[in-house]
Amino acid sequence: MKCLLCHQPLTQNWVLSQLVGGAPVRLPRICVNCAAQFDPIDPATACPGCGRADSPTLCADCQRWQASGEPLLHHRAKFQYTPAMKALIYQFKGLGDYRLAGAFADLPRPGRAGDVLVPLPSEPGHWRERGFDPVLALFGHWGLTPLLAKADTAAPQASKTRAQRLATPQSFRVVRPLPRRRIILLDDVYTTGRTLYHAADALRAAGFTGEVVSFSLIR
Ligand SMILES: [Zn+2]
Ligand SMILES: [Zn+2]
Repeated sequence: MKCLLCHQPLTQNWVLSQLVGGAPVRLPRICVNCAAQFDPIDPATACPGCGRADSPTLCADCQRWQASGEPLLHHRAKFQYTPAMKALIYQFKGLGDYRLAGAFADLPRPGRAGDVLVPLPSEPGHWRERGFDPVLALFGHWGLTPLLAKADTAAPQASKTRAQRLATPQSFRVVRPLPRRRIILLDDVYTTGRTLYHAADALRAAGFTGEVVSFSLIR
């Protein structure tokens, strides 16, 4: 079997690499050299709001969300959005390499038993173009509750500036009965937080009064 990123045979010795360089990131179908380029986020020093790496106090982004009057969303993510992770996401979402979801198949389900995991859906147009929904591809095996639908918006998030992303209008709506348990919203990448805050707003607007938190692969 070959590494999905560099296409070298998966023959490296994990035990040896552990002896040499501490505890490496282990990803199925990704070789030890490629996996070593990904930076996991240490939860002990992450932002208590958005889970950004190396921000033990509430980061500037989260302070802005608070100042805007939004209830602060407690978010957690696994990996930093480093150049190596950006390249992987481009191959996965931009080029549509569905197989890369398999690299994260061993991630533990976030939250606790009884939490309802709600995926953030793709816009219908993106789904058609790509042929798959990246969030379902990454997390579908956890058993998800698709409560939300998303309308098509004018321009894809990836092509927007930060200010344009923050100005994106609400496009989520609730399409199923609301649960009475804690909801964990799931997304692939947290950038400005705008999308996840919109999803949480849509739940509250539909009458959800419970706790909403969120999780993404990357922050
Ligand atoms: Zn590799
Ligand atoms: Zn933050």
